[in-house]
Amino acid sequence: MRNKIVFVGRSNVGKSSTIKALTGAKLKVGRRPGVTREPREIPYGRVKILDMPGFGFMAGVSKRKQDEIKDFIVNYLENARDVLFAVQVTDAKAFASIAMRWLARGHVPLEVEMYHFLREVNLEPLLVANKMDKIPLEKRDEVLDEICNLLGLEGPWNIIPFSAKTGEGLPELKKALRFKLDLEH
Ligand code: GDP
Repeated sequence: MRNKIVFVGRSNVGKSSTIKALTGAKLKVGRRPGVTREPREIPYGRVKILDMPGFGFMAGVSKRKQDEIKDFIVNYLENARDVLFAVQVTDAKAFASIAMRWLARGHVPLEVEMYHFLREVNLEPLLVANKMDKIPLEKRDEVLDEICNLLGLEGPWNIIPFSAKTGEGLPELKKALRFKLDLEH
């Protein structure tokens, strides 16, 4: 039975904080990353949130280990039969600068690659642009447009501006999840 919403995100983007804000679950926030862990399940209404390990750069973790974590997520989701859709959490402030750095080196940015992968496997990702509290009001549209451009989206329909710190965007995120869950039934 498909009854899970999978949460993915680069390490340190605030994925644990986002899940905590949504569910009240006692997750360790800001823990030192790098310890591979099994996906965790957290109840969310009549479904479950499946919390994947954070991927990408982690201080003190070898490149090989980082690749292993990403491969684990990709393999898991390619074969998952119980996942309804994905939520990809990103750090809105850092997204564009990190992506540009990768592009300048001729690489597809890791988060862009993950987003396209989730679409390819029909997990219809919802993107949570977290840490919006770090962006001045007058810059927010620009930042969201930049994220859309880098992901190749025509508009911000699947992006929720959010701050796990202030709770801004929490009602909108819950509403978007409800909407996507209703589509599945
Ligand atoms: P994870 O590795 O993706 O699970 O990230 P965490 O939830 O552990 O958060 C990583 C760091 O970002 C912690 O220091 C959090 O306090 C901080 N953080 C998370 N969400 C926000 C946010 O919305 N705004 C700000 N300013 N900091 C945040």
